[in-house]
Amino acid sequence: MTAAHQVRALGYAPEDVTDIVLTHLDFDHAGGLDDFPAATVHLRAVEQQFAERQHTWLDRQRFRPAQWGSRLRWRTYDDARTETWMGFDSVSGLHGLPPEILMSHLPGHTHGHAGVAIRRDQEWLLLAGDAHFDRREMDPEPRCTPGLRLYQCLMEKDRRARLEHRDRLRHLALRESGVTIFCSHDPVQFEALAGRALGEPCRPRASG
Ligand SMILES: [Zn+2]
Repeated sequence: MTAAHQVRALGYAPEDVTDIVLTHLDFDHAGGLDDFPAATVHLRAVEQQFAERQHTWLDRQRFRPAQWGSRLRWRTYDDARTETWMGFDSVSGLHGLPPEILMSHLPGHTHGHAGVAIRRDQEWLLLAGDAHFDRREMDPEPRCTPGLRLYQCLMEKDRRARLEHRDRLRHLALRESGVTIFCSHDPVQFEALAGRALGEPCRPRASG
């Protein structure tokens, strides 16, 4: 189920992967970076700064330098050259990548947490990472399990920013029918979007 295995199942080698756009540096998101030896890793500069600082006990648990063998290939983005997109500011195009792929600053869970937007035809897919944990947080009547609500509070670096950006994501989801927003940890949403069960590896892409 690792990303490297799934890339192979699609008919590519891990060395073929040229770019990875990272939402944040938590260990469960950065753990596979070293499996892609040729990839440039795009992330927010603030994320790198806070992760490297290793300031608190929790920071040392969540940000693990042992996973950062790719560090010399990190390409970071600050607020210097950003644009607005769908009502979000601090959105960056990514060096060497087409304009259909954007990174949006969605701080709160971590200081440099980002969303990744990808346009397919006229539709946008927006990976919100850990900006929310339960798909129902995007509903008109938002809901979240008590366990996930507690976990989000324990892991947040900035509550005001987290709640503000979660609410902005919800307003975007309700306003724009052409944008599909999904988070990193909702298994039901994963199965619906991926078209396969959680424990099932991705299928080889049909040729032709
Ligand atoms: Zn996560």
